[in-house]
Amino acid sequence: MALITGVTFANEHSVPFLAANGFHGSITTLGKMTHGIEIYLSQSNTVEISPDGKTAKIGGGIRARNLTDALWSVGKQTVTGACECVGYLGPGLGGGHGWLQGHHGLISDQYLSFDVVLANGNLATIDENSELFWGLKGAGHNFGIVTSVTSKIYDVQYPNYAIETIFFSGEKVEEVYQLANELWITNSTAPEGLNHWSYWFIDPTIDPEKGVDTVDPIHTAPFHQLGPIMSQPQSGDYRDLAAWTGISLADGPCQKTGNANPRFPIYLQAYNPQAQKQVYDLFRETTTGPATPFAGSLSMFEGYSQQGVRSFADDASAFAYRSDNLLVAPLLIYPPSKELNEAAQTLGNRMRQVLFEGSGQPTLNTYVNYAYGDETSAAWYGSDSWRQERLAALKKKYDPEERFSFYAPIA
Ligand SMILES: Cc1cc2nc3c(=O)[nH]c(=O)nc-3n(C[C@H](O)[C@H](O)[C@H](O)COP(=O)(O)OP(=O)(O)OC[C@H]3O[C@@H](n4cnc5c(N)ncnc54)[C@H](O)[C@@H]3O)c2cc1C
Repeated sequence: MALITGVTFANEHSVPFLAANGFHGSITTLGKMTHGIEIYLSQSNTVEISPDGKTAKIGGGIRARNLTDALWSVGKQTVTGACECVGYLGPGLGGGHGWLQGHHGLISDQYLSFDVVLANGNLATIDENSELFWGLKGAGHNFGIVTSVTSKIYDVQYPNYAIETIFFSGEKVEEVYQLANELWITNSTAPEGLNHWSYWFIDPTIDPEKGVDTVDPIHTAPFHQLGPIMSQPQSGDYRDLAAWTGISLADGPCQKTGNANPRFPIYLQAYNPQAQKQVYDLFRETTTGPATPFAGSLSMFEGYSQQGVRSFADDASAFAYRSDNLLVAPLLIYPPSKELNEAAQTLGNRMRQVLFEGSGQPTLNTYVNYAYGDETSAAWYGSDSWRQERLAALKKKYDPEERFSFYAPIA
């Protein structure tokens, strides 16, 4: 109710407004919100499980860890973002990647209906009978403030997890990604519970059916043959995944540091080992040493399992990139200033351009929730003209005055 009053007040006084939850949104278009009303959703964090145990009504201000804990305590789970402090709706409105997507699809594939405050201040229930349902699942930041969502939930079927973290020196870049293509992408028989991620950190001192308690060597032995620096197997349950990958509540990405953290994302079909090497050299050169402001930066290579995502039709929602295999993103970390923002934009785009040219793909495909902000609407929501036209028509109908246009606005 207070939320409706807030939006109505803002509209009557022509004041901009923006919902906030996990504060992980970093797209530069948010910078256009120079004044106005922040609508902080944290009190909207309830989870109500349906009597049949198959769905839950979830508050629009809940965060991933809180949702996972609430469901886990009753033997349930659903697809959330991998990072514990990220919102549940923020990622889902842009599609939403998470550890369980191989089993069940994207975060947004779980959504059955939304309670949403629209641009005109009205509270509406949007489900599969509404044309807006499609748009909320992929371009949702453009259409309203979700006060609650009803999502599919599942019995915990895969409680145990294992990870093996294998460390390589930089000289192995081409071999490692050639092998990753062969094992996990090109002729993949990888199971739907297997996620393969890699990070690049430059450390000048050295140069993750049923649950499992060890990673089957079929997925890792070929990497051991490449001669890693070391490898670290760990086992536990689903809730340990965030800590193992450095994105738990206790880890750096969940702390406020004052640093800027822009990403320059690109979806890829497969790795191009030579392009990987080229970007690695550039990354190393520009993020190592006392003179660089970008020391401590990282590059992310996220190979989430795709079976669940592809069990939905390509045109099922406004999320355009079900057929891509990899989510890659150089991430530059630095203390923000005008000069460094410009330098980061140049450098990040240079790295992404090498990956794009190496991909041979005709279009730049980016995850809207990782986007830097200078990409096109076609890059965020898909270049197919039917997608662009469908989104433009929804925008014109549901938000003609473009109140919801701070986060990756539909062109
Ligand atoms: C460290 C880190 C880890 C991440 N991990 C993942 C991941 O595992 N999977 C993934 O898919 N993405 C991930 N992301 C990207 C993430 O999807 C986006 O950053 C997303 O915008 C974060 O949403 P938020 O609620 O946390 O942030 P906020 O900055 O609070 O919100 C981001 C945008 O979402 C809007 N929004 C939030 N809640 C609502 C709502 N209820 N109704 C309407 N609009 C709303 C806000 O208005 C804002 O425009 C990660 C990002 C970071 C920085």
